[in-house]
Amino acid sequence: MALRDEFLRFVCQTSSEPMGIEVERAHGCVVVDKSGKTYLDFLSGIGVASLGHTHPAVVSAITQQAQRYLHAMVYGEYIQEPQVGLARRLAEVAPQPLSVTYFTNSGTEAVEGALKTARKYTGRSHFVSFVGSFHGDTFGSLSVGGNPLYRTPFEPLLPSVTFLPFNEIETLTRIDETVAAVIIEPIQGEGGVRIPDQTFLPALRRRCRQVGALLVFDEVITGFGRTGKLFACEHWNVTPDILVLAKALGGGMPLGAFISTPEIMASLSTDPPLAHVTTFGGHPVCCAAGLASLEVILRENLPWQAQAIGNELLGKLQKLIGAGGFVSVRGRGLLIGMDFVTPEATRRFVQSCFANGLILGWTLHRDTVVRLAPPLIISAQEIAQAVEIMQAALHCNGSALNC
Ligand code: PLP
Repeated sequence: MALRDEFLRFVCQTSSEPMGIEVERAHGCVVVDKSGKTYLDFLSGIGVASLGHTHPAVVSAITQQAQRYLHAMVYGEYIQEPQVGLARRLAEVAPQPLSVTYFTNSGTEAVEGALKTARKYTGRSHFVSFVGSFHGDTFGSLSVGGNPLYRTPFEPLLPSVTFLPFNEIETLTRIDETVAAVIIEPIQGEGGVRIPDQTFLPALRRRCRQVGALLVFDEVITGFGRTGKLFACEHWNVTPDILVLAKALGGGMPLGAFISTPEIMASLSTDPPLAHVTTFGGHPVCCAAGLASLEVILRENLPWQAQAIGNELLGKLQKLIGAGGFVSVRGRGLLIGMDFVTPEATRRFVQSCFANGLILGWTLHRDTVVRLAPPLIISAQEIAQAVEIMQAALHCNGSALNC
């Protein structure tokens, strides 16, 4: 049986139209399939491969750590150098006073941990989230996910969640003294690359402080330079109480984290002890990869690079507005959203790019938005190549041609 048929038969399917690339190898900004066809990756495995695929520094760290030890003990018992090293480095680069990290295997687990921590620390039960948000697919994260389409089939979920409209300051008064935490993506990813006004997040910060609710920033997609700053919260000079990270954190390995102050994180240590444990969270190989990846991001100033290349790409895309149903574009750094008139135009554009060797995708909650999130190391030549493919796809979209 062909591998493709086995994939469809034996691997649980989550999409009616999987992209279906039979991956032979991936390096830099390129994914190569079994037939030798190369694809330029403008999704980075959905925001993971910020250093590009299989970066040599990350591969070397993985190899060295794998030869020392793999899983040695569950979370929080043994002292493991890669884990401590990454936590120390995160404390140095995270906004102050966030300095204590809990490691998980994924973004959704980190969100779960943040929600539990907020409940325990505040003694309150209520959560506030935002329409259009995405925080993961386990029960707690899904409960604060801002699209009823994805929540309804799995209800009942957490009973006490209020959804406010994103970027509407006047509604923030609905956050009151019953709220344990407000969770928000500083830039909504799956919601269609939505960037709030300059005043919204500072106002949210003030409101949370006023009522004693913790502010949780989900920077799973925006973290580690993607938006032109190491963390997107720096664009607004707003420090959350808990910072949630994953995706690019592991340099291509599965790793998530939530980071907070020593005082807030102490609420996980007692009453009862061992109330929030994990077997694999903070796996030494993943932490070694994460540490190597972070050092490259800092050494090569990739946030700055993302900002510069992102501006250049935005400029090129702006010139294409008007063709093939493409109506507007916005972004921060290398997280860019292209708006189309209809879901059909969006779909045709994505499919045409894909057929011509460019990987992009629409967002989960907005089927008229195409998200671009290439590796931060993308070259000017690769940008030019991608823009050429997009231009041809838009031309194709606007004609009756089947291209
Ligand atoms: N939060 C945000 C903003 C995300 O974009 C995602 C995944 O796309 C998650 C949380 C969940 O992360 P994971 O898929 O690692 O569980």
